[in-house]
Order: sequence, then C-alpha cells, then structure tokens
Amino acid sequence: MDTAAVKEEIHLEAMHLGFSKCGFASSRFLAEDFSRYETLIAENYHAEMLYLGKEPQKRFYPSLIHPVIRTVIVLMAGYKTQAQQRKDAGYIISKYALIPDYHIIMMDQVKKLSSFIDGKYHPKILLNFVDTGPISEKAWARQAGLGNFGKNSLIITPEGSYFFIGIILTDLFVDPDEPFYEDLCHDCDLCVKACPTQALHKPYAVDARLCISYHTIENKKDIPASIVEKMGTKMYGCDVCQEVCPLNRRQAVNSVFFSPLSSLLDMRAKDFEAVGPTDFKQRFHESSMLRLGYRRYKRNIEAVKKMAASERKRPS
Ligand code: SF4
Ligand code: SF4
Repeated sequence: MDTAAVKEEIHLEAMHLGFSKCGFASSRFLAEDFSRYETLIAENYHAEMLYLGKEPQKRFYPSLIHPVIRTVIVLMAGYKTQAQQRKDAGYIISKYALIPDYHIIMMDQVKKLSSFIDGKYHPKILLNFVDTGPISEKAWARQAGLGNFGKNSLIITPEGSYFFIGIILTDLFVDPDEPFYEDLCHDCDLCVKACPTQALHKPYAVDARLCISYHTIENKKDIPASIVEKMGTKMYGCDVCQEVCPLNRRQAVNSVFFSPLSSLLDMRAKDFEAVGPTDFKQRFHESSMLRLGYRRYKRNIEAVKKMAASERKRPS
C-alpha cells in the first residue's frame, strides 16, 4: 500500500467531511509531554478532576490502550461562529456551549471518517475519541503538526484556537506529519495578564483550582468566594484567555458542523432566572450545558447574582 497516497486520501475525506485540520502522528510514547503532565498532576493543577490522574501514561502512549496501534489521526473542527448573546442576556455562556454539544456532533463526524477508512483500507483497529477516553488530544495535535501549546494552555494554531479535537487510533500505517514545535506566542502574554483569576500563573498550563471554566463547568461543590468575586457575569465557562489572543482575532468564522442555538442566544436575564427544574432539560437539551444539571445551573446563576449584588453595593 502506498502510505503517502493513503494519507492523502484520508486527509481529503476529512476536509470533505468539513474538518478544518487533519494530521497524522506515529504511535509512540510522548515522554516529554508525559513528564510535564505528571508534574502538573503532582502539583494538583487538575483540582477535583481525579480521572485526569488515573493511568496518565495511557494519554501519551496509545500502545497501552491497544498494543497494535501504529497511527494517531488528529482531527480539528473550528467552532467560531458569529453567534452573540443578547446585550441584556445578563449571564454569559462560553462560545462552545452556544452551539450543539460537540461531543455528539464531532463524534458523528469522526465516526464517518472511521467508516471511510474501514471501508477502504480494512484496518483491524479503529478507535474514536472526542473527550471520551484517556488520550491527550492536545499533545497529539502538536505531534501531528496541527498547532502548539499556547500560554493559555490550549492548542493554538496560526488560524486561532477555537477548535474541537477528535482522535482516531488505528493499526493502519500512514506517513506521519512533522510535529509543530514553533512557539506561536513569542513574547505575547495577553492571556496571562487578562485572566481574571491568575489561573495562568504558570504559562502554558492552567491551574484548574483558579479557573472560572473549571468552577462553573466541572466543580461539583460550591464555588469558592474568591472565584465568585472574579466571575462577573460568566455563568458557564470563560473565554477570556481565547478572546484576547491575537491569533483568534484573525480566526475566520469557520464552523461547518456547528450552527448557533438561537434558543440560547435569545435568552434575556429574566429567562435564565426563570428556568426551573422541569424546563432546564428542555431549554438546554442541545447544548453541552445540559451536562451541568439543574442543581449546578442554579448554583452558577446564584453566584453571578451574588456578584452583581455586591457590585451594586460597592461605593462608586
Ligand atoms: S478560562 Fe478564564 S479563568 Fe480559566 S484560565 Fe482562561 S481566562 Fe483564566
Ligand atoms: S494571547 Fe498571546 S500568549 Fe496567550 S496564547 Fe495567544 S499568542 Fe499566546
């Protein structure tokens, strides 16, 4: 089999399916990435996301997931849209939750590419991941030549950072791409300075214990007062460290799979506050916000309200 031709055909099909980027890496142990990850876990940068500390080697060594894996195919899909919440929304939702749940949409597209590969080349193994397994999407995106870590801890590319990442592991051999080692940040530190909670105090890593995204999306307990004070109107997630990135200012609207959810864009502050336990599911069923559940939704609403109330009391 002509491995260069195979790679070209898979790449072409990925573009045809609407992915923004597709890269290939040889399966091996990413020792340097693993060591960096291990240090961050030891320092508790993952807060209460204990699953991140389990079997960490697997994330960087696909042979531990399945011994015959030879290639890691990395897919990126842009999700930048022109969608904007109303000016009187009062409660800000992260951009990625204003579109249909990427876990579902992206996985459907990844599976379509897997089916194409299966039908054409008949590999023994095709494993698909979209935030669904122990694989470091970011480290493999760099290894497959698609982008590099930014000081905001995300994968940044010359075309910006509003991308979801999907992975296919396979025993099919495909010529690997060159890893992306160019530092795209240079002497910029806009994200580090703009972060409201200093969660980027160690550039290229996010300290989840301080991150508004972590506390409004992942944290299952109460949000600490020190974070509530800095949340402003951010009710679900935080895009500050992406919004200030110069690479994103020039990122084109590039969403192919993801159409904005007008039912969320149209919500006013009073609509957010009126959502009850029975209509929470109906209101947010298409968004990844559904995963929050009503209890934590109310917790976040109350945190923003508390912040707004203390702002009003503050002498001008
Ligand atoms: S998501 Fe927000 S709080 Fe978290 S690191 Fe980025 S700017 Fe800071
Ligand atoms: S804002 Fe600057 S430092 Fe931060 S990720 Fe973007 S380019 Fe890098």
